[in-house]
Amino acid sequence: MTTLSELQALEREWVMPTYARADVAFVRGEGVRLWDSDGREFLDFVAGISVCSVGHCHPAVVAAVREQAGTLTHVSNLYLSEGGVRLARRLCESSLGGRVFLCNSGTEANEAAIKLARKHAHARGIAEPEIVVLEDAFHGRTMGSLSATPGLAANESFAPYLPGFVPVPRDDPGALTAAVGPSTAAVMLEPIQGETGVNVVPDETIAAARAACDDSGALLVFDEIQTGMGRTGSLWAYEQLSVRPDVLTSAKALGGGLPAGACVAAPAVADVLAVGDHGSTFAGGPLVAAAALAAFDVIDDGALLRRVHELGGRLRDALHELDGVAEVRGRGLMIGAGLADGIDAAAVRDRALELGLIVNAPNPSTIRLLPPLVISDADVDEAVGLLGRALE
Ligand code: PLP
Repeated sequence: MTTLSELQALEREWVMPTYARADVAFVRGEGVRLWDSDGREFLDFVAGISVCSVGHCHPAVVAAVREQAGTLTHVSNLYLSEGGVRLARRLCESSLGGRVFLCNSGTEANEAAIKLARKHAHARGIAEPEIVVLEDAFHGRTMGSLSATPGLAANESFAPYLPGFVPVPRDDPGALTAAVGPSTAAVMLEPIQGETGVNVVPDETIAAARAACDDSGALLVFDEIQTGMGRTGSLWAYEQLSVRPDVLTSAKALGGGLPAGACVAAPAVADVLAVGDHGSTFAGGPLVAAAALAAFDVIDDGALLRRVHELGGRLRDALHELDGVAEVRGRGLMIGAGLADGIDAAAVRDRALELGLIVNAPNPSTIRLLPPLVISDADVDEAVGLLGRALE
């Protein structure tokens, strides 16, 4: 087997240096465990950044992929295949009704939502539609989603960005209300901002967004790419809020570990995008759809979702007790531990990895935990024990 240092040398030679990777190469996964190229075992509390929510190599996903890989993997969107249509139905019936555009990633799901919102606005006579977004949002890396991500769109290297995105603070419902006007196509937000540190968007901001959209005719778009598919203890995070969005985007855990994305539109806006408006070669293909349907069967289960609540409570309570943890944010198994002043989250993350626990540091003062949803109480206790040692 290629050693870690050989792989690192190959990467330096052949891969564009866009990632700051840890000094580890994984070779196998099962449930909440990963093994590296030296045979070391790790407890994975990042789960591929909330992709492997059913755990690594869940038997139902493995069986579905094996079966489908030997039957039919790709036909393009010039023709029909069953899995994509069944996945679309499952997504709609479990969320907003309406219709879905399937794609391959989170950023693409948001691109579809942006196009839908802009076309909807043009049909309302808005010549230059605007989309109100939150400061500290993360919506993706392609040019539309990037333009909707104020922190990254400040980087002049990739200018000019798409015009028409209006950022407002997360904690200021009044500013959001004031930003929505006759040119607003949509308000787009993550119910909990994952990439910038597990920041829960206040209920007041969410209620203000719904009210402003209702008053102006703009669409409320929820980016549930990280919060969806059971992560917060309900299939979709909005189910725990007082409002429903008009458009919802999903990805990450949707594909059960394979690349899948979706933009779901409520019935009133289900027909905005028409033939020729949008498309994607791989989207909704049979192989990924088989994996996604298998993942749906595992996650869209009342008993599992109740367990996510319980496990999240257990994890949050235990984190509160750790020396060095000043604040615990999040819902279900989407948790950010805010560290006390002077503690560097990246150093804690690296120490945890040495001890065999995988966590991540989305900002300098936060440790993020996104374990598979199928973990046990003992996994939670083991992770907290290791994190406690990493904080010492
Ligand atoms: N939106 C949110 C909330 C995300 O967390 C992410 C990825 O972290 C994205 C969009 C982009 O998803 P992808 O990396 O699949 O394009």
